[in-house]
Amino acid sequence: MELNLVMLGPPGAGKGTQARQLRRKWNIPHISTGAMLREAVQAGTPLGREVAVIMESGNLISDEVITRVVVERLSQPDTKDGFLLDGYPRTIPQAESLDRMMSGRKPLIIVDIVLSEAEVVRRLASRMVCAECGANAVGEGPACHDCGGSLVPRADDREQVVLNRLKVYRDQTEPLIAYYHGRPTYCRIDGARLPDDVTADIITAVERHT
Ligand code: AMP
Repeated sequence: MELNLVMLGPPGAGKGTQARQLRRKWNIPHISTGAMLREAVQAGTPLGREVAVIMESGNLISDEVITRVVVERLSQPDTKDGFLLDGYPRTIPQAESLDRMMSGRKPLIIVDIVLSEAEVVRRLASRMVCAECGANAVGEGPACHDCGGSLVPRADDREQVVLNRLKVYRDQTEPLIAYYHGRPTYCRIDGARLPDDVTADIITAVERHT
C-alpha cells in the first residue's frame, strides 16, 4: 500500500530522527532535501556549488531549484510504495508543486511535529551531522546511523544562523500549517516528548488514515 508522508516542523523538531525510525517500519525511502543538498555540496557538483553559500546562511534555496531535485527524486522507482519527505515543502509554492506531483498518487499524509522555539535553540546547539552522507544526528552515538561516517557540527547550526533559520521557518514555512490543516490527513504531533513516544504517536496518527 502506498504511503506518502510529509514531515513538517521547525528545524530541530526531530523530522529526520523520526523519518529514520519510520522508514524501517514502513520500508519506504526517507527523502531529506537538506541531506541531498549537503551531499551535493560535499561532492562539489554544479548543484552543490550553486547552493553552498545560501545554505550556510540558513536561507532557503530557490523553489525552482529544490523542486527540480524533488521531482527527479520522486520519479525514482523506489518511491512507488510511498516516501517520507523531510525538509520539503518549505514554502507555499513548493507545497503547490508537491500537490501537482501527487496527481495519480495516494493523498499526502502531513505529520506536523510541534516544538517551542526555546527547545529548538537548545537542541540545535548540540546537533551533529555526518561528514560523509549529510544525515542529521541528534543525541546519537559517535558514528552516523546510516553509513558509519564520522559526525561533525553542522555549519548552519551556529547560534546566529539558527536564529535566522527560525525566522525563515516562521516567515516562509509556518504558513504551510494553514495550507494543510484543513485536510483530513493533517496530523499534529507533540515533538517535546521522548523520541520513541513521538514515533508511537506518529504511527497511531498515520495508521488512522490508511
Ligand atoms: P535541513 O537539513 O532540512 O534543515 O536543510 C538545510 C538547508 O538546506 C536549509 O537551511 C536550506 O538552505 C536548504 N534546503 C533544504 N530543503 C529546502 C527546501 N525545501 N527549500 C529551500 N531550501 C532547502
